Amino acid sequence: MGFRRSLALLVAGTLVPLLVFSVVAVHQYSRQRNAAAEHALLDAARVQVVALDKHFEATIAALRVLGTSEHLDAGDLRAFYRQCRRAIETREEWRTISLFDVSGRRLLITSESFGSSLPGPPQAMAEPFRRLVETAAPNVSDLFQSPVSHRHGVSVGVPIARGAGVRWVISAGMSADALGKLVASQRALPDSTVTLLDRRYRIVASSHGHQALGEFAPPRFVKIAAGTPEGISREPTPDGTSARTAFSRSAVFGWTASIAVPVSGGIVERPVQAILGVGVVLLLIGLAIAGWAGRRISRPIEALALAAKQIGRGETVQPVPSGITEVAALSAALVGASQDRARSEADLAQASERLRILHEIDRGIIAAETPVAIAEATVGRVRELMGVPRVILNLFDLEAGQAEWLAAAGRRRLHVGPGVRYPLALMGDVDALRRGELQAIDVDALPRSREAEALLASGVHAYVVVPMLAGGELIGALSFGDATGLFSPEQVSIAREVAAQMAIAIAQAQLHERIQRQAAELEQRVQERTRELEAANQELDAFSYSISHDLRAPLRAMQGFTEALLEDYGGRLDAAGKDYAQRVVAASRRMDLLIQDLLAYSRLSRTELPLETVSVETVVDEVCAQMATELKSRGAEIGVDRPLARVMAHRAVFGQVLTNLLSNAVKFVGPTTAPRIRIRTDVRGDWVRLWVEDNGIGIPPEHQERIFRVFERLHGVEQYPGTGIGLAIVQRGIARLGGRVGVESAPAEGSRFWVELKSAETR
Ligand code: ADP
Repeated sequence: MGFRRSLALLVAGTLVPLLVFSVVAVHQYSRQRNAAAEHALLDAARVQVVALDKHFEATIAALRVLGTSEHLDAGDLRAFYRQCRRAIETREEWRTISLFDVSGRRLLITSESFGSSLPGPPQAMAEPFRRLVETAAPNVSDLFQSPVSHRHGVSVGVPIARGAGVRWVISAGMSADALGKLVASQRALPDSTVTLLDRRYRIVASSHGHQALGEFAPPRFVKIAAGTPEGISREPTPDGTSARTAFSRSAVFGWTASIAVPVSGGIVERPVQAILGVGVVLLLIGLAIAGWAGRRISRPIEALALAAKQIGRGETVQPVPSGITEVAALSAALVGASQDRARSEADLAQASERLRILHEIDRGIIAAETPVAIAEATVGRVRELMGVPRVILNLFDLEAGQAEWLAAAGRRRLHVGPGVRYPLALMGDVDALRRGELQAIDVDALPRSREAEALLASGVHAYVVVPMLAGGELIGALSFGDATGLFSPEQVSIAREVAAQMAIAIAQAQLHERIQRQAAELEQRVQERTRELEAANQELDAFSYSISHDLRAPLRAMQGFTEALLEDYGGRLDAAGKDYAQRVVAASRRMDLLIQDLLAYSRLSRTELPLETVSVETVVDEVCAQMATELKSRGAEIGVDRPLARVMAHRAVFGQVLTNLLSNAVKFVGPTTAPRIRIRTDVRGDWVRLWVEDNGIGIPPEHQERIFRVFERLHGVEQYPGTGIGLAIVQRGIARLGGRVGVESAPAEGSRFWVELKSAETR
């Protein structure tokens, strides 16, 4: 919601309840005032009735006094006429006095001369007259039109009795005017209209003059008034103005007095209307002021919101002019914030450029770039960041007492690579540099030299040398200079950072170079050794093959001749001779076995071994069949966890491997133990591991590696016969098939030999 609407709501929210309260209060007050006014009105009506009653009673009393006249008794009507004329003089409101006999004949009337012919009582009066005579009670007539004067009037008739009955009736005729005066003489309420009505509710007199004389009161008023002796009518007056009318009826004469005051006469609604009017005007004024004030506040606030957005976008902000203190303060704060932001952004930009340069150097280090390449990529940007005319990265040749440019950035030119050399003296105190201290050089104070001249010519009068140290060793320096030599801590700090990082880069590059050189040397040496080794191996293989091969012939001769000796000359040999001969036979057999094994072993490395898919299960079954006699003689029990996997192998070599493992498994058992062997495979990804597990004597962990070498045995031949080549064949054979071998064992807990070959299923 807008500020102006809020303010308008505030104003309305404050004023409207106030207005409602005022209206209710005034309405309440008005009602009370109305009630009081109506009460006063009713009182005034009562007063009128009382005054009317008194007037009529006074008239009656006066007529009664006249009735006591002796002229009447004496029958001297002329004298009585005169008496009546005199009486009329005394009472203004009396128009005529008449005397009637009980039959209704008019005996005299003061308005006519005595003795003239007289009209009877008006027709309308016949009935009242008869009742008057009958009841002998005085009577006030309703309004009637005089048959004599044709004017409206009323008459008060009083019966005059003599002895037991009524003899005459004296009546006083009163003009409506006279009653009007009576009404007027009563002090009524201001603006009120007093009306006298006869018993038939005809208007007899009105304080407002004659207009309505003789007319009947409005029927609605009559309806109300007929029902109750007194009360208030809120009916509008016949002329349409709304009014309150209080009325009271005389209990004696049946006449009604009414007093009407117009409602708009000022005592009822006006205050409420006034208050409402004033309230609405005040509300409008309040809303207008709220609108104006809202506009005055909301405009600068909108401007402030815009300024805040600008700050968000990183723009600079202008002050918002306003007479409102808070807005002015906020505006100043925003301007300050925008300036702060601009400053921080500049700082940030500088810091990130610093970081970028350092990162560039790091990247160079990681990518193993040369120091020259790293320096080339960064030195120009370092110069710009520092805001100096000249930045140089130097490498020191301490032995030669010289410094050499790695890279140099000037305003216009970038020099990269070695070649520019100059005396180390230009770098200041080398020992101080070694301690990591900065050197500030004043070019003007330097002894005259080609370099000093060149510096002065390029406008550099002072420069700072920042050492580059790697592992405590001084390897170079970063120097920067300008005409003044006044540098900010910020500039010095950038130079220090860059120098430190460059030192690492240079040291790293030197290290890298050295390692590469050494690696190349090493590689060459390894290749040479391998070649030598291969040659020696081949020689050895050829030698052992030929030896083995050549040895078998004399061995067989030895064996054959000794056997022949035993057969042909056995009878001539004594027991010892026979024993010797048999030992010779046994030894040569064993030697033949050894030679065969060695031949098999050396053959393994000499022949091509093409791989094919081999079913382990089939090979196991074949080997078991071949060894059936041996296994049976040893009471061995062999369990195969079928099915077994298929591997990539050379069938004959794999069969040899399995034979060697099985014969070891049945051989290396305790003297009283029946060998129990389990053969299984498990698939490990692309590989199949074949396990040959026995319940034999086991192998101590420290020997588990060496038993795979040639001639390595853990027992004497007497205890466990063998050549010590079986596992070497297993090892070399499996290696030639591209696999691995191993054993898991502990003494007296059996051994689990395994060979691992490529699975045939992955192909
Ligand atoms: P050989 O069986 O001819 O002695 P091998 O190369 O087959 O030669 O075995 C080397 C040595 O490893 C054996 O002498 C023996 O000490 C040990 N060895 C081999 N297989 C087993 C086995 N299943 N249980 C215990 N020791 C074994």
